[in-house]
Amino acid sequence: MKKHAVVIGGGYGGLSSAALLARDGWDVTLIEKLDDLGGRARTWKTEGFTFDLGPSWYLMPEVFERFFSLFDRERSDYFKLLPLDPYYKVFFGEGETAVLSPRQEENIELFESFEPGGGDALVRYMDQATYKYEVAMKEFLYRGYKHLGEFFNRRLMTEGLRLGIFKKLDKLVGSYVQDRRARQILEYAMVFLGTNPVEAPAIYSIMSHVDLKLGVFFPEGGMATAAQGFVRLCEEQGVKLVTGEEVVKIVTRNGKAVAVETTKQTYRADVVVSGADYHHIDTEVLEAKDRRYSPRYWRKRVVAPSMFIAYLGINRKLPNLEHHNLYFAENWHGHFDTIFKHPAWPEKPCFYLSCISKTDADSAPDGAENVFLLVPVAPGLADTDQQREAYLAHVLEHVREVTGEDLTRDVAVQRIYSHRDFIEDYHAYKGTALGLSHTLMQTAIFRPSTRSTKVENLFYTGQYTHPGVGVPMVLIASEIVTDEIRNTYGA
Ligand SMILES: Cc1cc2nc3c(=O)[nH]c(=O)nc-3n(C[C@H](O)[C@H](O)[C@H](O)COP(=O)(O)OP(=O)(O)OC[C@H]3O[C@@H](n4cnc5c(N)ncnc54)[C@H](O)[C@@H]3O)c2cc1C
Repeated sequence: MKKHAVVIGGGYGGLSSAALLARDGWDVTLIEKLDDLGGRARTWKTEGFTFDLGPSWYLMPEVFERFFSLFDRERSDYFKLLPLDPYYKVFFGEGETAVLSPRQEENIELFESFEPGGGDALVRYMDQATYKYEVAMKEFLYRGYKHLGEFFNRRLMTEGLRLGIFKKLDKLVGSYVQDRRARQILEYAMVFLGTNPVEAPAIYSIMSHVDLKLGVFFPEGGMATAAQGFVRLCEEQGVKLVTGEEVVKIVTRNGKAVAVETTKQTYRADVVVSGADYHHIDTEVLEAKDRRYSPRYWRKRVVAPSMFIAYLGINRKLPNLEHHNLYFAENWHGHFDTIFKHPAWPEKPCFYLSCISKTDADSAPDGAENVFLLVPVAPGLADTDQQREAYLAHVLEHVREVTGEDLTRDVAVQRIYSHRDFIEDYHAYKGTALGLSHTLMQTAIFRPSTRSTKVENLFYTGQYTHPGVGVPMVLIASEIVTDEIRNTYGA
């Protein structure tokens, strides 16, 4: 009889590890509490609009290509990729804008226009980012860490300074460019990692290689279409996909998981992989004796931001917007402070607006636009009906001032999604959108461990574990965890 693996959670983490386990010969059942698969990468369809609920930046395409190649498949058999041009548009306030382009010479010109020598500084900055990216891909991202010695290895000890493990990103960027617009372009992607640029280790300058060199893509049909590609891959590998059942208990005997109980039934398990919220599984699904971390451990974590999101179907065209749009406030440290230092709803926030109907005509009815408005906010804020409606009105006025687009007019559909939805849908700790921030003490070996030390056949994938936040990172996490399972139990 084949051994049975139970995978908890049907997001990218759960789907990717389920497919790999099935490839390795396990009989796999994936259990998802919601009625749809994809986790944060699901869609909301209404009145001719199809909104991506979560991720919208398809980055690091090579990670996806590699993943499908592990099954002797091509990514293009599952979904089509469209390169974006421009990559994104930035609003700096007071009517000033810039676009970042796939043509590097245009970005160099842009940086030169910000400050004399800025173009050359960008070239040098990108060189170091590329170097770090290549080392990170080869040496750090695709490997698991069991003890400190594996992290503080020779390469890190000899090259730690050059790789920027011990330096802060904000300082690194400041040693290349001074202009605030240039700095913001090189630092904004820390929000993708749920981190304050002032606290992020400088190794994360790899993110500039990721967006400005590797490029920004869009899966035809949206990010959720890509997630559905992973669902299909699972089906082809024979994974049994169960939706609408919530895992409520991992039953253990003598330090081993033997079964998983859901709201509906019990599944026998020889191995369990969780791709669900780590805090939720560790503190609510496991019995106290089986928990890996203490309440104090969780209290001390730097939790990544939650997000205040509005999905807006607008019945007219929005000429001032591109596919991806970002607003960087002059005092953006003030916004980061409201997330990480003095939690509060930010007054004049930085925001992200996507308008995928610029690329994907099917995402909105003819003549309309599909808008996704996102403000990163502190986890754990009170999120009442009254608060969210008032905040949306406030932010839309701010968006009008910044972009010149009035998103309160011709509104066909509108939905707000924030803290309490993250908690209700995903059991997200404090309503976090992204899990744990990427501070130094929450990087690599310092992220929650991939394997439980209390329950020997319980493993974790997903955005809480190494290498961390974002769809490509989660795919890598699943490779790491299934490698470990293969090394332990054989294929
Ligand atoms: C608004 C937003 C925008 C983002 N933008 C980007 C982006 O542009 N690019 C990018 O790469 N990344 C982006 N990210 C991050 C990315 O979406 C995540 O890092 C990634 O999708 C996380 O995948 P996961 O499998 O770890 O978690 P999830 O997708 O959350 O999957 C976990 C699943 O577990 C289920 N679950 C929880 N508890 C249980 C239980 N007890 N029983 C059964 N099932 C359970 C949940 O319902 C969920 O479906 C974004 C995230 C958000 C929220």
